[in-house]
Amino acid sequence: MTPHDKLFIPGPVEVSEKTLAAFARPVIGHRGEAFKNLYQEIHPRLQELFGTKQPVFLSTSSAWGVMEAAIRNIVRKRVLCCMCGAFSDKWLDVARRCGKQAEPLQVEWGRHIDHAVIDARLASGQFDSVTLIHNETSTGVMNPLPEICCVLAKYPDIALIVDTVSSFSATPISMDALGIDVMLTGSQKALALPPGFSLFSASELAFGRASENENRGYYFDFLEFKKQQSEFMTPSTPSIGHVYALQSKLDEIFAEELENRFARHKRTNALVQDWVQRRGFEFFAEENFRSTTLTCVKNNRGIADARFTPEASPRHRRRLWKN
Ligand SMILES: *Cc1c(COP(=O)(O)O)cnc(C)c1O
Repeated sequence: MTPHDKLFIPGPVEVSEKTLAAFARPVIGHRGEAFKNLYQEIHPRLQELFGTKQPVFLSTSSAWGVMEAAIRNIVRKRVLCCMCGAFSDKWLDVARRCGKQAEPLQVEWGRHIDHAVIDARLASGQFDSVTLIHNETSTGVMNPLPEICCVLAKYPDIALIVDTVSSFSATPISMDALGIDVMLTGSQKALALPPGFSLFSASELAFGRASENENRGYYFDFLEFKKQQSEFMTPSTPSIGHVYALQSKLDEIFAEELENRFARHKRTNALVQDWVQRRGFEFFAEENFRSTTLTCVKNNRGIADARFTPEASPRHRRRLWKN
């Protein structure tokens, strides 16, 4: 592998040599049999990872493309944005820029979204959609998805849009069983693929909403994705290298087996949490709601920032740690 500085940031994460080799395979035409076979071959495994019988779509965009698309396709008028960190907070602004009436359900960073508070807000009858980030990467909080989904089950006409960018495939999330209407993830975090690609799936309610939303555009039109997927194609030319890289990653994931993968993430996360405590650091996220896929550490020891700066070269950082 070309010598390079290994990435030690939340995302994009380090991409393995095996994945990069798949990513660099010769390009094929996206309307030909080879591409259709490729998409068809990976599709059942994608459905298993999403926990859905619905189609799973390949989007050549970063996660924000699909997050914005979900707003444009799904929200009728008013959306409640659950906000507990940098990514979830930004969704409010994105929804407003899409011309929707978006209202914040803001909690202090480091805290989780409480299902009872969602219930109280939805009881007002003002909202048709909710955005939620399952694993808030910026704070290390993993929101209690089953409890929140139980509340949403009381409101069958309200669409639930869930970002699983930094938890997908590392912990079980069953879209159909939980009643999630749009579930999305990006390529460059838990899946450890190169950045610039996303996966998503949508419920029947979501497709119904899309059909009512006239200003949903073309590039991210959920109905166009659905139509094309039925023949294992994408609306426009996808990043074909990403699809090969995804296939290679799925081979790894299913060779390891899902249960083992989930358990491994729990185990390695416990190692990190143990290190944090032994070194006298504190967690940024409140207890009982800490992510099992990443850890945010409070700099309560007041260590000079440069040691934590992701942009600093590993050599520079190692030197700083030694001193
Ligand atoms: C990284 C991240 C995103 C944004 O992903 P992009 O690929 O930069 O669009 C969104 N949500 C969460 C939870 C993330 O961690």
